[in-house]
Amino acid sequence: MRRSYKVKFINDCDSVLNNEINSEIMKFDRNSFFNNIEELPVLQNKVEMNSKTDLVIIGTGMVGITLAARAWHLGFKGDRITLIDGNEYFAENFFRRTKNSEQKIMRSSFIHHVAPNEDINLADFTRLKHNELTNIEKEQLTLARMGERSLPSLDIFLEHVKHVVINHNLHKRAFKFSADSIEQNTTGKWIISDSEGQKIESKYVVLAMGQSPKENMYKEHSINAHVDNFKNYLNEKVKTVNIIGGGNTSAHIVKSCLDRNLKVNWIIRNEENYACTDIPHKYWRDEGYLKFSQMTLDKRMEEIKRIYKGSAMLEHKGIFDDYKKDNALTVFDNATIQEIDKNKTIILQNKTRVESDLIISTIGFELKKLPQIKNGINTFNGFPVLNDSTLEAEGLKNLFIASSHSALSLGPAAKNIDGARIASERIFKELAKREGIEKYNVKNILENLTNWSRNTPVLKK
Ligand SMILES: Cc1cc2nc3c(=O)[nH]c(=O)nc-3n(C[C@H](O)[C@H](O)[C@H](O)COP(=O)(O)OP(=O)(O)OC[C@H]3O[C@@H](n4cnc5c(N)ncnc54)[C@H](O)[C@@H]3O)c2cc1C
Repeated sequence: MRRSYKVKFINDCDSVLNNEINSEIMKFDRNSFFNNIEELPVLQNKVEMNSKTDLVIIGTGMVGITLAARAWHLGFKGDRITLIDGNEYFAENFFRRTKNSEQKIMRSSFIHHVAPNEDINLADFTRLKHNELTNIEKEQLTLARMGERSLPSLDIFLEHVKHVVINHNLHKRAFKFSADSIEQNTTGKWIISDSEGQKIESKYVVLAMGQSPKENMYKEHSINAHVDNFKNYLNEKVKTVNIIGGGNTSAHIVKSCLDRNLKVNWIIRNEENYACTDIPHKYWRDEGYLKFSQMTLDKRMEEIKRIYKGSAMLEHKGIFDDYKKDNALTVFDNATIQEIDKNKTIILQNKTRVESDLIISTIGFELKKLPQIKNGINTFNGFPVLNDSTLEAEGLKNLFIASSHSALSLGPAAKNIDGARIASERIFKELAKREGIEKYNVKNILENLTNWSRNTPVLKK
């Protein structure tokens, strides 16, 4: 039995009333109703895809969904928009990565979600599902409505994502198609091809391609938890687990193993670190974006690298402190791995030998490789160079880049859900101008509110 769950804030959190983190939230007392990937909206077969459209969004992750829902309100719907993705389901990467690590609570708060301003937001959506909420979810919703720091459950978040996809008909416009190359034809239209030679032509293209797990440098002796489901490797012979990596995925797996009464050695390259979110709050606010935009590219790069160090959620802290007292958890931080032997022993540079029955590696993500872009794309330290105001790629008219690849313009939060909102505001403000659309027409906004969001029934299970 765990004893205490409360720790004082040690980071800048969004809170006025609360000065304690309640780790009870991590226990989450309902079996998930969003366990099965097949509950996510599915992409269509590419043979059904038109060969011409006005706007192609590459990527149907959280960022692609946010962009497409925003585009819907500017009239990019029906044949005018096509979403493509190599995956089978919307939000598939996020679903697999969070479920693989048994994450049940979002790390970001209620204000970070995929719906544009005109639509029902995550807190309102959650309120409409009040009857189905657990006590913890109800408590978090109350905090959210008070403007306090509050975390939605993953289930509710994913239900909301699904709601946004279906209510903007995005599933009818999305196709399983992996972009291999992109080139501009003589009329200035973009031609996107896959490896089988199928093509789609579009006036505008927005890339929202996310990150892929880094190559597991210890793959001979460990599993990569960003790709493999660690639970498949647990059996009665596994009593002690070595977990490599100090980020959010690691922390969830550490907790899952400890909760299964396994002994855990946690090997972290940097300091053991707990934070409200992986990106400091200032980058979720105008002042953060403004400050970043005033830096030189070199300074921006330094800042991105500095911020991208992994951290566990603040809610993990109290739980892990208790497990440490019980000697179930041992943390080796500031640790450099020298060698891993075939008996699953990790030898650190200071000669400490850390024995285990299973090694789980979670060493983070890197930018997903871009499709081949004819005539190339300007990059700085691997990140595309974009127009800060519009996120259009330098010298590539009508090709815009969001998600992790836009970090050089948007800052560290580009890879997060909040970054998607900022990206879509910048890109579609420009597209609205180019298309002569009155985006900020109050009448349209009110019509959308009354005709669309408010009257749309909440999806029932
Ligand atoms: C365990 C975990 C927990 C997290 N929790 C949070 C959180 O609480 N809050 C938060 O803000 N962020 C969180 N994040 C960060 C999170 O990953 C992002 O916020 C979000 O999922 C990123 O969405 P994305 O669309 O950029 O990337 P993805 O979801 O990876 O989507 C990119 C899509 O592009 C597709 N794609 C890539 N290349 C091509 C191509 N050539 N052709 C066609 N399709 C292509 C991919 O198949 C993929 O579907 C978390 C991340 C992890 C791993």
